[in-house]
Amino acid sequence: MEPLKPSILILYTGGTIGMQTDPATGALVPFDFNGIYEEFPSLRRLRVEIDVMTLSPIIDSSNVSPANWLELARLIRDNYDRYDGFVVLHGTDTMSYTASAMSFLLENLAKPVVFTGSQIPIGVLRTDGRENLITAIEIAGSRTDGRPTVPEVSLYFQNRLFRANRTSKRSAEALSAFRSYNYPPLAEVGVNIAYNHAAVLRPERWDEPLRIAERLADGIAVVKLFPGLDERTLRAMLAAPGLRAVVLETYGSGNAPTSEWFLRTLEEAIARGVVVVDITQCGSGRVAMELYETGLRLQRIGVVSGYDMTTEAAATKLMYVLGRESSAERVRALLGRPLRGEFTLCGVARNENFFYISQR
Ligand code: ASP
Repeated sequence: MEPLKPSILILYTGGTIGMQTDPATGALVPFDFNGIYEEFPSLRRLRVEIDVMTLSPIIDSSNVSPANWLELARLIRDNYDRYDGFVVLHGTDTMSYTASAMSFLLENLAKPVVFTGSQIPIGVLRTDGRENLITAIEIAGSRTDGRPTVPEVSLYFQNRLFRANRTSKRSAEALSAFRSYNYPPLAEVGVNIAYNHAAVLRPERWDEPLRIAERLADGIAVVKLFPGLDERTLRAMLAAPGLRAVVLETYGSGNAPTSEWFLRTLEEAIARGVVVVDITQCGSGRVAMELYETGLRLQRIGVVSGYDMTTEAAATKLMYVLGRESSAERVRALLGRPLRGEFTLCGVARNENFFYISQR
């Protein structure tokens, strides 16, 4: 008997991938993914069953909000037992934020959730969307030794599959728009899909039911340091009503000015209960606050290391952790360890086949 075909649910949220040219007017109009087999007959050769759900309204991803992330998580939970994998079609602009948020929201995930999109609309001849979509579906349906090959939230774009919460959009122009500077690709796609099995996150237990977090905290700010940031401005930002946490984008390996006003302003915010997480504004590399006096001073006043997290992962992790925990001690404990492989505790990510530094 033929083995059952994997069933995949495509969740279309909006973005460039869902656009096509209206032959009558020449304008870009939404593509109807329900007609996916008619548009791409080659999909039938993939040996997967596909259902499509279009979120309403479809949005440009610049308009996405944490409320949309919670809705998406609920949709995946409600359909979790019916499908073997999920493909989320999303605008590229904030895809790394949504996909990072989803990695935290989906607890005990043991099935693939693959995000993809495109830089050129799917209805335009030279689109990158067709290959991104077809390969994302194939990855979502892939099994190795009877288990899903990539049972985590991932992002597929231009021949590479990444852990979603390690990615950032790095080009508004190039077809290879995403980078994962601090973690190796989970797969490289050429003639074949070469999975980097050692890099893939697997659940501790495969049979735990999927749970989702029901709340994401608000009151999160991202503050990027630059020479010239003055006391009045920083003070105003940290005095924002309802502020609960700050992702502080520092220099190099987690360094910041040692001026008294700067440290005092941060220290006062921390004393009011604001959580401050230090991540580097460099694309690749990690925070090591103990390395220089300029980082050590931050550590002493209670700034938390964000290790090699992206801004996208740090901001969404804070929303998730603060939405779930009220004890400052639990919050610190959850920030201090990787929950979904979003940072590497020490050293450079390494596995048997691969010594990974950067893709720049
Ligand atoms: N503005 C679009 C979006 O993020 C861009 C894209 O999809 O590439 O929704």
